[in-house]
Amino acid sequence: MFLRRNFEIKEKIMDNPYKEGTLIYKDFNMLSDMQWHCTKCDLISGQAKTYEKMRDDGAKFYQNPKTKYYAEMIKCNICKRNTMHRKFI
Ligand SMILES: [Zn+2]
Repeated sequence: MFLRRNFEIKEKIMDNPYKEGTLIYKDFNMLSDMQWHCTKCDLISGQAKTYEKMRDDGAKFYQNPKTKYYAEMIKCNICKRNTMHRKFI
């Protein structure tokens, strides 16, 4: 069978371990595409402890090497402002 490599569908690489419908579940789902996500537009939980919990549970987040924050100031494509973004790595 001919494999169309350029058209491979990006699979979700992690199973969501959290209870369906919870904030942490929704944010995990959002982040599981491994792309940057705006903390204002994409991510529902405004609380850093939500992401601390994910890290405690084994999720790997991008960490800024200088600030050590698990977030980066990036211009958002949705709200067009510079906002903190988070990303799984
Ligand atoms: Zn935004």
